[in-house]
Amino acid sequence: MRTQVAIIGAGPSGLLLGALLHKAGIDAVILERQSAEYVLGRIRAGILEQVAVDLLDEVGAGSRMHQEGLVHGGIELLFDGKRHRIDLNHLTGGKNVMVYGQTEVTRDLIEARRALGLPTVYEARNVAVHGFDTTHPSVTYEKDGKTHEIQCDFIAGCDGFHGVCRASVPRGAITEYEKVYPFGWLGLLSDTPPVADELIYINSPRGFGLCSQRSKTRSRYYLQVPLTDKVEQWSDEAFWAELRLRLDEEGREKLVTGPSLEKSIAPLRSFVTEPLRFGRMFLAGDAGHIVPPTGAKGLNLAATDVKYLSQALIEYYVEKSQAGIDGYSQRCLARIWKAERFSWWFTSLMHRFPDDGGINAKFQSAELDYVLRSEAAARTVAENYVGLPLDFND
Ligand SMILES: Cc1cc2nc3c(=O)[nH]c(=O)nc-3n(C[C@H](O)[C@H](O)[C@H](O)COP(=O)(O)OP(=O)(O)OC[C@H]3O[C@@H](n4cnc5c(N)ncnc54)[C@H](O)[C@@H]3O)c2cc1C
Repeated sequence: MRTQVAIIGAGPSGLLLGALLHKAGIDAVILERQSAEYVLGRIRAGILEQVAVDLLDEVGAGSRMHQEGLVHGGIELLFDGKRHRIDLNHLTGGKNVMVYGQTEVTRDLIEARRALGLPTVYEARNVAVHGFDTTHPSVTYEKDGKTHEIQCDFIAGCDGFHGVCRASVPRGAITEYEKVYPFGWLGLLSDTPPVADELIYINSPRGFGLCSQRSKTRSRYYLQVPLTDKVEQWSDEAFWAELRLRLDEEGREKLVTGPSLEKSIAPLRSFVTEPLRFGRMFLAGDAGHIVPPTGAKGLNLAATDVKYLSQALIEYYVEKSQAGIDGYSQRCLARIWKAERFSWWFTSLMHRFPDDGGINAKFQSAELDYVLRSEAAARTVAENYVGLPLDFND
């Protein structure tokens, strides 16, 4: 089999890249090691920047998002027992974020792809990438007991943090920057109305908390927990009790609890791979970088990576120019590092760090107070939270 671009991974980055390339008349096959049901069962991101919203519209997969998604013009920061609103809309001259779950984004992209009859191979086992340092790369995989080969012009590694593409690059050709945080996020999804209209980021002496949501009837809450905690240790009752302790009086009164639909612990990590291009293979999304979820940037960065990659590939096929491909890594990394910085900063501001003798909490208080008293500081938070424009670094 032959295609122009072999895409590894059918998460948001692989599916969106497939859609952008199809729109430009470029063939692609997507290989995914899991089933579609498994991919749709993963509960992850929930906040889309305008750039991601625009990209879903661009590929014709945005209509349900506009019907069911919730536009938020602000977020609340809760510390020292008081809530403070960051007015994203006012501070950024009219920009907002969209609350729409990654599961729904993925479902819409899968359905759009199915409707167009575009090829996705689910449950493709032992995917391996070959010859990406030559002009004839290929991909092999196993399915139904047979080995298959796809010859292609390019390989797009959209296969997440644990994927095969980054792992196939010779160690001497890649630099990895990493920071692992000394805590994780325990997340709980429930069919209960959100405790507030907007997201509440909590810095309490007991640790960070986040009151997020997926719709007006579905809530997603997170608690900072030690890395040693196991999800089995946390009954639903224990989760709700701890969240109550981290909330303010109003939150405690309004919190509606219910059985969890899903509960999991995610470690927090800042991670960037440089470069993102290796001959004829590109890394995009979580395959190339990870952010702690505090800044809600992971899915959004995945979307902008593949926008840049699609532009580079379109330039290659349509304008017969290598320039976009040659500049892909640098263009993405300029954006990625800014989102990494913001995510690290916001994580550092809102979490309690073990064994710091209390000085970190003092720094945090001073910084939060500064953010609330200085419009310039609040604007910096808002500008980064809603996402920098696509051409910010061009
Ligand atoms: C708890 C949590 C909360 C988050 N909250 C937010 C948020 O609010 N906002 C935000 O923007 N981001 C958030 N993120 C991050 C976001 O979920 C990721 O950045 C996003 O999923 C990246 O998409 P991706 O397609 O690059 O990678 P993935 O979603 O990981 O998809 C990669 C795909 O590749 C497949 N794959 C892997 N290896 C292989 C292989 N060898 N062969 C074939 N297929 C393979 C995987 O099965 C997977 O389907 C959150 C993440 C977590 C864990």
